[in-house]
Amino acid sequence: VKNIKKYFPITTPFGKVKGHVKAVDNIDFALHKRETLGLVGESGCGKSTTGRTIMRLTEPTAGEAIYKGKDLFQLKGQELQALRREIQMVFQDPYSSLDPKQIIGHAIEEPLTIHKLGAKKERMERAMDLLHKVGLREDQYYRYPHEFSGGQRQRIGIARALAVDPAIVICDEPVSALDVSIQSQVINLLQELQHNYDLSYVFIAHDLSVVRHISDSIGVMYLGRMMEKAPTEELFAQPLHPYTQALLSAVPIPNPKLKKERIILKGDIPTPINPPAGCVFHTRCPYAEARCRTEIPMPRDLGMNHVVACHLYD
Ligand code: SF4
Ligand code: MG
Repeated sequence: VKNIKKYFPITTPFGKVKGHVKAVDNIDFALHKRETLGLVGESGCGKSTTGRTIMRLTEPTAGEAIYKGKDLFQLKGQELQALRREIQMVFQDPYSSLDPKQIIGHAIEEPLTIHKLGAKKERMERAMDLLHKVGLREDQYYRYPHEFSGGQRQRIGIARALAVDPAIVICDEPVSALDVSIQSQVINLLQELQHNYDLSYVFIAHDLSVVRHISDSIGVMYLGRMMEKAPTEELFAQPLHPYTQALLSAVPIPNPKLKKERIILKGDIPTPINPPAGCVFHTRCPYAEARCRTEIPMPRDLGMNHVVACHLYD
């Protein structure tokens, strides 16, 4: 993914464009086969929009997303349809993504129907098989969404995403609505499926401790920009960006002797309608200096794929 941008126009009641919300501003990353990239940040940082843009659920403003040698952003018609098969999404709220009047077997089959894959009987067999793979029972095929718990509904959402045999799954806060004990079950299931079906994940979360276990590398976003990106262990061992340091200081760690002082950020996240000039984080950064208010820090690779966008490392 190269320099993707997604700007939403802000219009007056008469339809005149008076500005833009820069929801995603110059995001870069690589996603490898069988690997997971965690995307982390507070709500409104653009992580969901990044996922939706790659899937072309929303049209990109600029940038490239190269997959198997083709730019996903240039695809049209049948090619775009084929792409939609290869990249699937799991949503945060399985409640709202399932139709209450539809039995879950049909919900799981729906992507197969949309992509015109298989005869009715084959689709049903596939749905039964998927139920089994995500840890549910085949006889639950005929049940309705309200008969399942939140964790089970997320399993249904995962089965539905896997129905068309995708290569990439964008998981948008798939466990944020679940109890902590259920969260780890769903994450373990995702890992098992990744291993068995060679899946690549973009795993979106607002909590670093959630992505740590599943991610090979992590990108930390703030107000539409990538602040820092590194292999997971490297990021936890040596967080460089002041924002990542603050997020990490809030993560409970098993050994309290290692606990660093909690960094409390002042103020709230500014509105993306009128983001701060220079470094978007400068209004809350404990290390901000004069140039941070005017110059945008460019992401730079400090070695070992550890990328940071902060003037402290120039
Ligand atoms: Fe803080 Fe400046 Fe670095 Fe931004 S560029 S994170 S304001 S030190
Ligand atoms: Mg979101």
